[in-house]
Amino acid sequence: MAKQTPMMEQYLRIKAEHEDAFLFFRLGDFYELFFEDAINAAKELEITLTKRGKGDDAIPMCGVPYHSSEQYISQLIEKGYKVAVCEQTEDPQQAKGVVKREVVQIITPGTVMEGRAVQDQENNYLLSITDFSESEYGICAVDMTTGEFLTTVITSSFEDVIHEAASFRPREIVVPASFSEEKQQRLKVRLGITLSYEDKCEDIEELDELVHRLMDDHAVVACKRLLTYIHRTTKRSLDHIQQATYYMLNEYMTIDSYSKRNLELVETIREKKKQGSLLWVLDKTVTAMGARTLKQWVERPLIHKEMITKRLSLVDSFIEHYFERESIRDHLSSVYDLERLSGKVAFGNVNARDLIQLKRSLEEVPRLFDIVQSLGNEYVKELLQQADHCEPLKEILQNSIHEDPPISITEGNIIKDGYNRELDEYRDAMRNGKSWIAQMERKEREETGIKSLKVGFNKVFGYYIEVTKANLHLLPEGRYERKQTLTNAERFISEELKEKEALILEAEENGEKLEYELFMEVREKVKDYIRSLQELANIVSTIDVLQSFAEVAEKNHYVKPKMNDDGDVQIVEGRHPVVEQVIDIGDYVANDLSLNKERELLLITGPNMAGKSTYMRQLALISIMAQIGSYVPADEASLPIFDQIFTRIGAADDLAQGQSTFMVEMLETKHAVSKATKNSLILLDEIGRGTSTYDGMALAQSIIEYIHDEIGAKTLFSTHYHELTTLEKQCERLQNVHVSAIEEDGKVVFLHKVVDGSADRSYGIYVAELAELPEKLIRRAKDILFDYENGQDANVPRVEEKKEVLQEPAVSPGEQLTLFEDTMEQLTNKESASVELDDKDKEALKELKELNLLHVSPIKAIEVLDQLQRKLKS
Ligand code: ADP
Repeated sequence: MAKQTPMMEQYLRIKAEHEDAFLFFRLGDFYELFFEDAINAAKELEITLTKRGKGDDAIPMCGVPYHSSEQYISQLIEKGYKVAVCEQTEDPQQAKGVVKREVVQIITPGTVMEGRAVQDQENNYLLSITDFSESEYGICAVDMTTGEFLTTVITSSFEDVIHEAASFRPREIVVPASFSEEKQQRLKVRLGITLSYEDKCEDIEELDELVHRLMDDHAVVACKRLLTYIHRTTKRSLDHIQQATYYMLNEYMTIDSYSKRNLELVETIREKKKQGSLLWVLDKTVTAMGARTLKQWVERPLIHKEMITKRLSLVDSFIEHYFERESIRDHLSSVYDLERLSGKVAFGNVNARDLIQLKRSLEEVPRLFDIVQSLGNEYVKELLQQADHCEPLKEILQNSIHEDPPISITEGNIIKDGYNRELDEYRDAMRNGKSWIAQMERKEREETGIKSLKVGFNKVFGYYIEVTKANLHLLPEGRYERKQTLTNAERFISEELKEKEALILEAEENGEKLEYELFMEVREKVKDYIRSLQELANIVSTIDVLQSFAEVAEKNHYVKPKMNDDGDVQIVEGRHPVVEQVIDIGDYVANDLSLNKERELLLITGPNMAGKSTYMRQLALISIMAQIGSYVPADEASLPIFDQIFTRIGAADDLAQGQSTFMVEMLETKHAVSKATKNSLILLDEIGRGTSTYDGMALAQSIIEYIHDEIGAKTLFSTHYHELTTLEKQCERLQNVHVSAIEEDGKVVFLHKVVDGSADRSYGIYVAELAELPEKLIRRAKDILFDYENGQDANVPRVEEKKEVLQEPAVSPGEQLTLFEDTMEQLTNKESASVELDDKDKEALKELKELNLLHVSPIKAIEVLDQLQRKLKS
């Protein structure tokens, strides 16, 4: 490469320090990107790629105007990239040689403060994880937009760290560079995040206070690493970051990330949308702060009875006081996002409009709290006791900022009259000057007799007297000094107008400058109240979530759950909160559910599509709703407090993550059986379906036995293996239930009603009929089934899958296994006797045999099959 210009040398030097970020290099009114950055950014942002220089030495370049850079930066951040913003740090007019430039901020997915990447109703967590050994990890999370700062220590496997990290749904995770490659990969693949590195854990004086109360050294290291990273990248004041709060993992119900996804707590599995999730049903919050808090609550249900009782009791009061609740909703709608505002204040991003919103919120909050107080609930006092109404701040804002200020903070019109004497004087001068000009215009018209004479102003020439050409002859010679000639008019200036102009412009300029300074002063004062504002935000969001629960409970006819201590589940006419919303009103079939010491495990059989997994999810969702303090969809519900919920529900394929369905199934099951306790809830849906019938059935049975004998957790287990229903005899706390269906006019009707006892048949063919498979195919399936049911299977190929439609097995599972194996052996022998295998075939078979299916993704499997087939055909 040819020798670079001094500016490009400067660019390359700065870029070398920010390799993992797009470098936005300020050049006049543009941010320019060069080399690889330019090529990639042009692609991502769909902007034109140009060149700097000529011929072979030309450098790829693209640029965005600085005034609209925010939108481009947001786009890159949203896609998970980082952007280093490099500004000119000296006046180009004064510069000798190349203008000095410096990176003033690095914006990353976890540190971004505004723009499209930050959603109002969602937190934007930045995490850091530090490993101290294979079983000791410090983890902490900051939401830069709200200042929330949480930390904990995990003393178990890295898998648990992943689950905990997932619960924050972070955009970015900071780790030390020494973090193992394998772990980095797992974080990236499982959480889909941007990974960043920070090796230092500095003692930053002004941030020390944030961690000094922490007792755990591992947590301190994790927090310091995160603070060092934030300090280094944002290069701004971090006054709004709260003291790190240490939380214990066992303060909340544990729901691993698989289960959260399976249960569709905050988003649906397939479309990743809020609509269709539990959060969607529960969210009738009015403020964005409330919406974020609700999401946090749904992600972390409580396990302390007292806290659950408090929330439920408050919801009770909100339900009882309908009119107060309406009025509370009304007041909430006038409360601004105090949490995010605190962040903006610290970052220096607020404008006068934000401050007016803050003022209105502070005026609204006492009215809001008065109504909440009037509910007369015993817990209200506790809820409101931390509230500091920030009266002095409210007064400052009331006295200082105009009701309807402009967005710009440099062009005046922000500060009220009467707030500052000097500013009032400038304003007087301006107003007087302007009325003097109006007077002068009148006077000159009279004296010259030119009615159309006018005094005007423009930015380039300042004040002028304008006379149309037609009237020029009326103007006495030498009355004014000529300034500018237009097509139809002449513009003039006079000595006294010049004098006044200087006075007005000076007053205007000084006034604007002073207003800016005064605004900055007010903004600084707000900083003193950041902690109180955050506390207020906390209370307001809690009120918002509780009123939302009341609203939803009333609208959907929920009932207050009773939390019992004996571990029993007693649900009368329970419903699935989401399904009942999406089907026609009145179509949902409510179901009872009862679990107790004698009845710990329900084995659920029934046709496909009958409602087995809906019934299972229903219990999990009702329990979670109760433990976050919400009423539940049932006529009556008495529930224990579950410490953990585990699920394996539905066929959520993890193709994108390269794991086969069956592998995911086994991973999730392993997680459940190794972590669950007596106080947990386990939901297993169709376990063993992903492998061959006998393999699967054997696994299913042993899993049931293990849970029954070793764990004793409350468990719902749905299966299409009717053979398993005989387990009732062996496992005394297992109860068979089934979802009923009836046949009417040769058609199956699902009743969605769960009753004790096992199902009598599978109805698989009827489901196929419903799905409108070809008639011929259905007829054939019915014939085959008839043969099976009558033991005449000679003319039916013995393919494993066909076994699934078997109803009552003629023999026990054990016997069938040998029968099946015998047949397979016969078949194999027959095959091998009649087919000659050459070396290629043998090699292909060997490869097939050695292939570890558990480590092959479906896409890879197709590829392998293709290779084998080619080999066999060649
Ligand atoms: P399964 O797990 O038995 O295959 P699902 O639980 O997936 O069946 O239910 C299939 C469909 O039946 C659901 O999508 C839902 O629309 C409907 N369904 C399930 N349970 C009920 C119910 N209790 N009342 C009304 N419709 C239901």
